[in-house]
Amino acid sequence: MTRKIAILGATGSVGASTLDLVERAPERFEVVALTAGSDVAGLAEAARRTRARLAVIADESRLQELEARLAGTDCRAAAGPEALNEAAAGEAEWVMAAIVGCAGLVPVMAAIEAGRTIALANKEALVSAGALMTEAASRSGATLLPVDSEHNAIFQCLAGSRAQDVSKLILTASGGPFRTTSEADMRTATPAQAVAHPNWSMGAKISVDSATLMNKGLELIEACHLFGLPSGRIDVLIHRQSVVHSMVEYVDGSVLAQLGSPDMRVPIAYALAYPERMATPADRLDLAAIGKLEFEEPDLQRFPALRIARQALEQGGAAPTVLNAANEIAVGCFLAGGIGFTEIASLVEQALDQSTAAAPESIDEVVALDRTTRNAMAAMIEARCH
Ligand code: NAD
Ligand code: MG
Repeated sequence: MTRKIAILGATGSVGASTLDLVERAPERFEVVALTAGSDVAGLAEAARRTRARLAVIADESRLQELEARLAGTDCRAAAGPEALNEAAAGEAEWVMAAIVGCAGLVPVMAAIEAGRTIALANKEALVSAGALMTEAASRSGATLLPVDSEHNAIFQCLAGSRAQDVSKLILTASGGPFRTTSEADMRTATPAQAVAHPNWSMGAKISVDSATLMNKGLELIEACHLFGLPSGRIDVLIHRQSVVHSMVEYVDGSVLAQLGSPDMRVPIAYALAYPERMATPADRLDLAAIGKLEFEEPDLQRFPALRIARQALEQGGAAPTVLNAANEIAVGCFLAGGIGFTEIASLVEQALDQSTAAAPESIDEVVALDRTTRNAMAAMIEARCH
């Protein structure tokens, strides 16, 4: 039996790793839909290779180009938000959610409402609308499989345990490229330095988030929604080797960890084959060569984004949605050379302090709050520059 799959964000880093695994095991998977933001060439090429039936480009102005590139194939070209929802909730039984940012929320919700199995990489959707997504999943019977390496590790370590047997979750963090950099040097850090992650190769946005540790803050919120534990029972631990991907501590004092080389194809394969396993070409772990594993407390002075994200989680209501939207704008602005690296966290904190928004009660309200926060943040950055 082949599994019918769709990949949302097929041209990105997680999308490419998913395609790599799927193309190594063509007998197991049938690609029914692929989507991309604006990379028409990458999308068309992947659709041709995998004989996908539907290729969707989010940017509607690129539809003609996509049609031209797919001429002579059986793959239908489509564009825009409705088509993204169709890719997410159509024929596929298994959906990889790998769009970056809150832009992925509406298609992920379409897949959830259709009761699909969703491999969730798109953490920003869960940060912005966690409770709405998990409630919708329990109503529709959809399954959310965590793909983020830490959450996938925890999911593996939990392996069906009773909730009352778990005492806490321990999220590991590599510490990013600035783990030992002084605050003064971080102030002048360039986008090129920020995206140069020591252990993982990823898209630009999550690489910057890893450098500020906002990524770990977003993951804290993600863990809270996926595993139903409060902030006080989720710790963050710096582990620079990225070998232990996260841990679960049980009430008896046992700690279970999942280890592996830092290769996203391992957690993606777990979700692809779930509940079975499949082979991957990931490097095997050579612990003798690694020698020792190191752990330390995160430095909240130099990495305020982690503290700010935890506060947003504990505050609840509109705060996580505002946190995510403000961070997306700040990171985009930093990558474009508009603000300094350390301004990312301070501007996000300012946006949270200024927000008076009420908790969003529907996906439409999340989308509206996301938009108003982006506009307010852009105006705040603009005003600061003049
Ligand atoms: P990426 O930037 O490499 O790829 C993003 C994908 O989303 C691309 O296919 C792009 O075309 C598409 N896209 C961008 N904007 C869009 C829009 N407005 N509408 C529709 N599609 C759009 O990002 P990535 O590194 O692959 O990360 C994807 C998601 O997975 C993020 O949420 C990230 O936090 C999460 N994640 C990534 C990694 C990793 O190793 N890269 C690890 C864990 C979690
Ligand atoms: Mg992660």
